[in-house]
Amino acid sequence: MLYDIRGMNEECGVFGVFGHIEASHLAYYGLHSLQHRGQEGTGIVTADGERLHAKRGLGLVTEVFDETSLDALTGNHAIGHVRYSTAGGNTLENVQPLHFKSLTGDLAMAHNGNLVNANELKHMLEAEGAIFQTTSDTEVVAHLIKRSRGNSLKERIADSLARLVGAFAFLFLTEDALYVGVDVHGLRPLSLGQTEDGAYVFASETCAFDVVGATYVRDVEPGELLMVTNEGITSERFSEAAVRAMCSMEYIYFSRPDSIIDGINVHTARKAMGKKMFEEAPVEADVVTGVPDSSISAAIGYAEASGIPYEMGLIKNRYVGRTFIQPSQELRERGVKMKLSALRGVVNGKRVIMVDDSIVRGTTSRRIVTLLREAGATEVHVRITSPPIKHPCYYGIDTSTKEELIAATKSIEEIREEIGADSLAFLTLDGTVEAIDRPFEGALRGQCAACFTGLYPTELAELVTETKA
Ligand code: AMP
Ligand code: SF4
Repeated sequence: MLYDIRGMNEECGVFGVFGHIEASHLAYYGLHSLQHRGQEGTGIVTADGERLHAKRGLGLVTEVFDETSLDALTGNHAIGHVRYSTAGGNTLENVQPLHFKSLTGDLAMAHNGNLVNANELKHMLEAEGAIFQTTSDTEVVAHLIKRSRGNSLKERIADSLARLVGAFAFLFLTEDALYVGVDVHGLRPLSLGQTEDGAYVFASETCAFDVVGATYVRDVEPGELLMVTNEGITSERFSEAAVRAMCSMEYIYFSRPDSIIDGINVHTARKAMGKKMFEEAPVEADVVTGVPDSSISAAIGYAEASGIPYEMGLIKNRYVGRTFIQPSQELRERGVKMKLSALRGVVNGKRVIMVDDSIVRGTTSRRIVTLLREAGATEVHVRITSPPIKHPCYYGIDTSTKEELIAATKSIEEIREEIGADSLAFLTLDGTVEAIDRPFEGALRGQCAACFTGLYPTELAELVTETKA
């Protein structure tokens, strides 16, 4: 069962633009800067006022699109998607944006996140006669919209979004309008920006605005539905916002360091996590090094706070995809080997503090400790700038099943032994929350921390709860 649910998991990036003469090109550059959020498939759908034009493919943005294909995507409005799928879902029909044709007009949809009641809704819709073509959550929403009794498309979208439980940042494109909605907890980030010539842009991360020359305006609010047409932009609520719960992993690992989420720069948050890590678990050593790319900021923070020099102890081969993409443990281990090398000149004869952002299965840490020792490090102290991940994520981040999570079954001492480190420490949850320092009240300051605590911000659908036990 869980496998089914994981098959639909997606860690993705979305980009949208309304009212720009080069919409498909903007989408291309925007998606390229969101490529770290998903490398398995990508697509762009444009609207020219009368019809939609689509191209989707498996692979990287630069592999799927070229000048000719972008020129063929005519129109001033576009939405695009980069997709990271877990096992079972990597087929072309699941690559987004999904595009639905109907007599009343076409609709394209791009979704980042994961719905926890998708199966429940799907069974209900099938019982009413709906036929599904893909295994993605997004199609469930398309059917909901189609069957909704609302008078306008906006009402039907609002009505449908209100029935979803889970994490989503949705972009919907018709021939002449763009609709944008974020779940009531704001689990996944989505920001609004504007280009100099007034076009509206939306992106999972603000790093995409910089690359297309747009200025950040604000984040889309939890429970908000925006509609953009030639008349301008309007905002309404499809539901009252619930407790804010932005995914902590966006700050810890997933987002690019130059992105800003709810006013907080990701690099600054990671540096603060490194500093807190030093305060919580100092250790004597000669050099601090970080695992490229996501842990460099935290390692710099640790080094600055401790006064121990930051050194480039590890190098990443940029041309290998993310470790997690390779499906089997064996391939993953080989992947890690291909991806990282230790710099002998830096670590030989040294006591090394190795900072990484998280431990999921433990594969990366084990491999890196070995690499550092092989390169002559006399001691390796591992510092992880997030709490132990003990619970699966049902909101679209692939933190694996409970059985695969090393911290779900092993103590910190057992993990230390397994990865072969001289010492191991994780950042506390309080330390993580304080370091990120989100501008919201409450114990978690508007963050989701369910993979650390097991306290999920939404109800979990029946199927998910069953498999959790
Ligand atoms: P593992 O080797 O399974 O312990 O994975 C930990 C490594 O994967 C760390 O270096 C993280 O930077 C990275 N990581 C953490 N969470 C994820 C995720 N959801 N998807 C891909 N990589 C991740
Ligand atoms: Fe993010 Fe963890 Fe919450 Fe999933 S469970 S949304 S990975 S914080």
